[in-house]
Amino acid sequence: MSEPFIICKQVVKAYTVSDHEIVALRGIDFQMARGEMVAIIGPSGAGKSSLMNLLGGLDTPTAGQLAVGKQNLLDMKPGLLADYRLKQVGFVWQQVDRNLFPHRTALQNVMLPMTLARVARSHRRARALELLEAVGMAERVHYKPTELSGGQQQRVAIAVALANQPQLLLADEPTGALDSETAHQVMDLLMSLREQLNLTVLMVTHDLKMAKYADRVLTLRDGALGQDLSDDEQAASQVEPDGKLQLPDEVRKHLTAADRIAIEIRPEGVLIRPETVEVDDTTALLTDMLPADAPPQESKTKRGLLTMFQRKPKTERGASS
Ligand code: ADP
Repeated sequence: MSEPFIICKQVVKAYTVSDHEIVALRGIDFQMARGEMVAIIGPSGAGKSSLMNLLGGLDTPTAGQLAVGKQNLLDMKPGLLADYRLKQVGFVWQQVDRNLFPHRTALQNVMLPMTLARVARSHRRARALELLEAVGMAERVHYKPTELSGGQQQRVAIAVALANQPQLLLADEPTGALDSETAHQVMDLLMSLREQLNLTVLMVTHDLKMAKYADRVLTLRDGALGQDLSDDEQAASQVEPDGKLQLPDEVRKHLTAADRIAIEIRPEGVLIRPETVEVDDTTALLTDMLPADAPPQESKTKRGLLTMFQRKPKTERGASS
């Protein structure tokens, strides 16, 4: 396998607010190949923006290793980091005012990053027009953001992000403010540019339909990445008509020792979580399961209660309801 383009090893990000610390990322490990597209999904507060900010050179990790294209972002001097942000990464955000200057036309917006990177004037205009054509905005190069629809604004934002020919594109909820049809059109555009330019794309989204465009989907929760099972053949097994699901061995290992398994439907998918039953919970569960006229339960050890709970025959459970 060729050397990874992005290496993220035990990355920790902590913020100090007043006198206490908020740990947003708790030892993130992942790699991306050049040209790969990865989607990160996770609830609000999971640490998605913190991770994007680190990869985009907008912030630095508290600990760990972070390298993009062999450059160690941890050791980079501020000047070099600013240069990295300007030339090597493109950003597309959900909010239009983060992507585009409202008083500038589409053409001026696309030319601006090139001006900052000191690209020759003649070259700037030609490349900006080329990019606006590539994103389907050739007819509207002199329009300001307020004169464009949400989808058109995101097309211009993609052109701005690609102005200095970055190898990495970071997209934070790029379709979050768009209707479904426009969102798919913007994603199709992103996919086609990614292929033409061999871009490496990391996208954060809440939306599973958008995440499906990626080669891999990682889940982030409470500052930790969930294990990526998308390459595991077993993980692709289907739910059988009777509700049975074949789980990969790696998953089973985490579940077999659990007292019970909690299943939750979340915006990003279905979470299967091992749970330890506390004595109080077990008592509540047993009380629910036992017939109303059953003798009161003595205080027992957790194991004793669990044994009773697990061994209760099915027919008896049915009879109690
Ligand atoms: P997400 O993008 O998944 O919503 P964030 O990376 O924005 O998550 O936030 C992760 C955690 O870090 C949250 O608890 C958030 O409040 C905290 N956090 C993020 N940025 C800052 C900051 N600049 N200062 C203090 N806490 C922050």
